[in-house]
Amino acid sequence: MMATILDGKALSQKLQDSLKKEVARLKGEAGGVPHLVNVMIGKEPSACAYANSQKRVAEYIGISYDLETLPANITQKDLVAFVKKLDADASVHGVMLHKPVPAHIDYRAVGNQIDPSKDMEGVNVANIGKMILGDTKIIPCTPAAVMEHIHSTGVLLRGKEAVIVGHSEIVGKPLSMLLLAEYATVTVCHIATSEAGKLTEHIGWADVLIVAVGKPALVKGDWIKEGAVVIDVGINRVGDRIVGDVEFESAKRRASFITPVPGGVGPVTVVMLMRNGIEAFKLQKRIGF
Ligand code: NDP
Repeated sequence: MMATILDGKALSQKLQDSLKKEVARLKGEAGGVPHLVNVMIGKEPSACAYANSQKRVAEYIGISYDLETLPANITQKDLVAFVKKLDADASVHGVMLHKPVPAHIDYRAVGNQIDPSKDMEGVNVANIGKMILGDTKIIPCTPAAVMEHIHSTGVLLRGKEAVIVGHSEIVGKPLSMLLLAEYATVTVCHIATSEAGKLTEHIGWADVLIVAVGKPALVKGDWIKEGAVVIDVGINRVGDRIVGDVEFESAKRRASFITPVPGGVGPVTVVMLMRNGIEAFKLQKRIGF
């Protein structure tokens, strides 16, 4: 079997086109467009690259987007005050705190200060709670991008074995809830699964496998069940190349569908951020209620 490669750039373009239409429609209905603010602390090069792609996508979709860069030595207190000011500003509809943040900043504590209705990354505890209950359209961006890739295959999750490797707060944990909401049978593997020598066994069960660890070629092609859908979230720099967590060449001979790295999940993630921003705008304008 030779897998169909899931083209993240093409999917991203398709989703951007649909959001662009929605923003044009909202402009008529609400008399304005979403205004999103990304708060970045310091100027880390990879963070700047992500912010640039956010700006490009926002411009294409027709959203207003500002990057606020704060000094690397800003105190937590001043940062919270800054976020609170954005919360109180009715012209701002979406706020995000760009990762990574310096070690002296508590990301979760500041993220929880973002008004839940303006939380465009879906990181506020209130939104995480609502997501578990299926009660919000503001969904953490990377898990949302994974779901878009799975949906694009046409494979139905109901009754399928979905195996996630990695249980981080931003990827594996929220993703497990989204898969469960579609009636997949969900297994979440992590470091202790590997330590117990059970990672290969669980992966072998997966009809749908999602790997989000950050270790190059952790998952070998011959561990994968014939015909599985494989979504590789990992981004690892190896020399001058970027690779995923799955051994791509061998995996594509087993899988039915597989995302490449780069060009798989990444390009869709940034569109999900904009989608959340649009949902936040709709919440504040009481559109769709
Ligand atoms: P974290 O480091 O927060 O989480 C990694 C997870 O992998 C942890 O749950 C860890 O378990 C688990 N893990 C580590 N080693 C093993 C192992 N040998 N076997 C099984 N599980 C293991 O990373 P993130 O979730 O933030 O990111 C994961 C990857 O996805 C990274 O490469 C990151 O760059 C990429 N990424 C890509 C995005 C995109 O849009 N494409 C967005 C976000 C991340 P434990 O905590 O128990 O040690």
